[in-house]
Amino acid sequence: MKILVPLDFSKSAESITKYAVDLARKLNGDLTFYHVIDERNFFTYNTVYTFPEYYPEVKLDEESQQQMKESAETEFKKMIESFEIKDINYNIEVDIGIPYSQICDYAKENKYDLVIIGSHGKTNLKDIFLGSVVDYISHHIDIPILIYKIDISKRK
Ligand code: ATP
Ligand code: MN
Repeated sequence: MKILVPLDFSKSAESITKYAVDLARKLNGDLTFYHVIDERNFFTYNTVYTFPEYYPEVKLDEESQQQMKESAETEFKKMIESFEIKDINYNIEVDIGIPYSQICDYAKENKYDLVIIGSHGKTNLKDIFLGSVVDYISHHIDIPILIYKIDISKRK
């Protein structure tokens, strides 16, 4: 059984991971921890890159994107390793894209059986029932999805 666990770098990542690991043990599943670098954050760089006459020093080429990906991979790996996961097969993947659609595409293309995702992430607004990434995915993905409810009393 292939289980996809999309994570951002928010506080909730640890409890989502713990839950996913326990469930994977029971289901004899393999986990993939997946992070998407939001390409829309490159906008400011792209703006300066589109006007090289104004900003001759600034470049965000393929190579810089690759560097950013590698750096994110290193940090993501560090975070996952700090959770001290035992007795379970897992791997780690990082991509660049628009998180909500990239996660759907990735899950579909790689034929995952289940997605485990948090109800909230980095923004973590108290009065919002679901974050926008998980909300979109829950409406658009065609494979089973388990939304791990982040405990509001513990949220900051
Ligand atoms: P919003 O992003 O709408 O401001 P939020 O950050 O609280 O609100 P979401 O972004 O929907 O809520 O996060 C819910 C869950 O979606 C996270 O706990 C995580 O599992 C997953 N997720 C969010 N962003 C990413 C990302 N960039 N890459 C991988 N997984 C993500
Ligand atoms: Mn978010």
